[in-house]
Amino acid sequence: MAKSRFEYVKNFEADDSLLPHCWIVIRVDGKGFTRFSQEHGFGKPNDARALDLMDKCAKEVMQAFGDIRLAYGESDEYSFVFSKTCSLYGRRASKLVSLVTSCFTGSYVRFWGEFFPDTQLQWTPMFDGRAICYPTDAILKDYLAWRQADTHINNQYNTCFWALVKSGKSKTEAQEALQGTQTEHKNELLFSSFGINYASLPARFRKGSVVLRTKHKKLVKHLDDGTPVEREFSAPTVCHDDIIGTAFWKQHPELLA
Ligand code: ATP
Ligand code: ATP
Ligand code: MG
Ligand code: MG
Ligand code: MG
Ligand code: MG
Repeated sequence: MAKSRFEYVKNFEADDSLLPHCWIVIRVDGKGFTRFSQEHGFGKPNDARALDLMDKCAKEVMQAFGDIRLAYGESDEYSFVFSKTCSLYGRRASKLVSLVTSCFTGSYVRFWGEFFPDTQLQWTPMFDGRAICYPTDAILKDYLAWRQADTHINNQYNTCFWALVKSGKSKTEAQEALQGTQTEHKNELLFSSFGINYASLPARFRKGSVVLRTKHKKLVKHLDDGTPVEREFSAPTVCHDDIIGTAFWKQHPELLA
């Protein structure tokens, strides 16, 4: 195609291609979801519908981008891990971040009604997005462990906080009661005051969501003699496994291969 004399403006675009041979993590996080969750009547501390919607969006992203190995989500955020050898869009950060973030956000709006049939979307949900490069498997695992440890810390705090509020304390009083408390103290408080055994709360609240590609068989057709013909396909599947310890990685060696 003939070039116009304006073509030179293209040279002002910065090269933002991500380092080769590194894992690429793209994390999206809801903008102002503290308020968004209040105004859309999310149950506290954990609204299962909102988590289901987040998981649905993550699966949609994984279906759109085959280079994603796994994803991890909690609260209003999701991290997507692209393979070290991913060459999609020349590994350009702006392309990858904007496409993943818009796929996630678009899906959030598209599927909202499925998960919140009785709640009108009050405003346009927004998610920010960033790309981070991790040079080794060990650091990538530490990144994911960091997010899951965060899930635990937040969930434990929020479970205590909302138990106190629901028992009649003001939000300020609840906050003061929890200031500077350690894990053991919070577990003790939950058990002695509210009869809640932290460890028996649903794993999805304590551990967040891990999305992996798992293999399934689908019936394609029957031959003339009635023999069923199956085809294997892979689909993103959500689990709530511990990813801090070594067991998960031993069980899924293909993830880092
Ligand atoms: P920012 O724009 O800086 O991200 P934010 O208000 O979104 O601000 P976050 O640190 O991202 O702050 O926290 C997300 C908030 O969204 C949590 O504090 C929590 O109150 C709320 N939230 C997210 N998911 C749920 C859920 N499933 N159930 C209840 N509350 C939720
Ligand atoms: P890429 O993913 O690389 O951007 P693309 O298919 O989106 O690929 P573009 O160069 O962005 O390619 O071109 C957008 C295409 O969308 C155009 O070729 C045109 O056919 C179509 N399109 C966009 N807006 C309209 C419109 N209003 N009416 C008809 N066609 C449109
Ligand atoms: Mg934030
Ligand atoms: Mg947020
Ligand atoms: Mg967040
Ligand atoms: Mg286009």
